[in-house]
Amino acid sequence: MLLDQDSRNRLKYLFGSCVGFDEPMSRHTYFRVGGPAEAFIAPESIGQLAEIISWSRDKGIPYLVIGNGSNLLVKDNGIPGIVILLTKCFNKIVFSGKETEPVLVTAMAGVSTQALCSFAIREGLSGMNFAIGIPGTVGGAIMMNAGTSYGSVSDILDSVNVMISSGAMLKIPKDEMAFSYRKLSLNINLTDQYEGEPIIIDGCFRLCRSDPALLKKEAGRILKKRRENQPAEMPSAGSFFKNPPAGKTAGQFIDMAGLKGTRVGGAEISAKHANFIVNTGGASASDILELMQLVQKKVFDKFNINLEPEVKIVGI
Ligand SMILES: Cc1cc2nc3c(=O)[nH]c(=O)nc-3n(C[C@H](O)[C@H](O)[C@H](O)COP(=O)(O)OP(=O)(O)OC[C@H]3O[C@@H](n4cnc5c(N)ncnc54)[C@H](O)[C@@H]3O)c2cc1C
Repeated sequence: MLLDQDSRNRLKYLFGSCVGFDEPMSRHTYFRVGGPAEAFIAPESIGQLAEIISWSRDKGIPYLVIGNGSNLLVKDNGIPGIVILLTKCFNKIVFSGKETEPVLVTAMAGVSTQALCSFAIREGLSGMNFAIGIPGTVGGAIMMNAGTSYGSVSDILDSVNVMISSGAMLKIPKDEMAFSYRKLSLNINLTDQYEGEPIIIDGCFRLCRSDPALLKKEAGRILKKRRENQPAEMPSAGSFFKNPPAGKTAGQFIDMAGLKGTRVGGAEISAKHANFIVNTGGASASDILELMQLVQKKVFDKFNINLEPEVKIVGI
């Protein structure tokens, strides 16, 4: 482990009730699995966030920023170092250009993606409906370039404000971001220069004026389709594997390999959607990882296809 008693005391002194120790990550992930984070901090201001990351940089202690944990698989022995949760105070949505066309809306990283979708519908702004039903926060959606067959974050993002490991803030316009399938990479020179992944503080989105009633109707249709196709009643992290670049989806390959319903411990390939690994109750991260490897092997042996996880696997 990385935090000695002195470091723990110092963190307690600096961050008071915002810091907890040995916090089970199963409480902060949709999979409901994961061992403890050595320190778990929910900062109450940007200033406090800057203090945390410059303290951890000085001490050489790694940190991981999380949103709602809807795309995270935390291993059973937990996360050494500091986990930072932004949902406590980074939760405002504001117009940054109401009279412009397209309209510019800025949402802080801790805002839930669904709150941003509802805001857009209420205000009669189109562009967000692709994300209806995607769990998690705006920060997580930006980092994951979250999306569906209707679109993805990269279609509407204009710029982001990030905090780098010195605690300084930088605005990054879209042309300095590289988006790919379920991934955002920020300018490589930036990360080289400042070590550590930049933290998304907020994102500015370009939305277009539309009719709230039409948007609401469209959102209802999209949500209904999601509910029919996804096992939302069971803990999961959504689609476990990325779709291969062309041809069939990951779910179709897993289904064709006859793997629906396959179990390891409490982890199971959903019978409703083959690309969902669900926790049927009492699964460990090791169960899920073992099932992941079994799926990868069977699909590779049968179809010569390498399935790559979309879910972020963290911890030890
Ligand atoms: C039932 C279900 C359905 C889903 N459906 C979809 C879908 O249709 N499409 C889709 O794309 N995804 C889907 N997902 C996956 C997931 O909801 C998205 O990837 C979501 O955007 C993750 O957001 P989060 O806040 O939970 O991020 P987390 O899971 O907490 O984190 C994801 C990654 O982002 C990083 N991160 C989070 N916040 C920040 C920040 N502020 N700064 C820097 N890094 C950060 C984390 O370190 C981690 O690497 C689904 C998940 C579930 C459980």
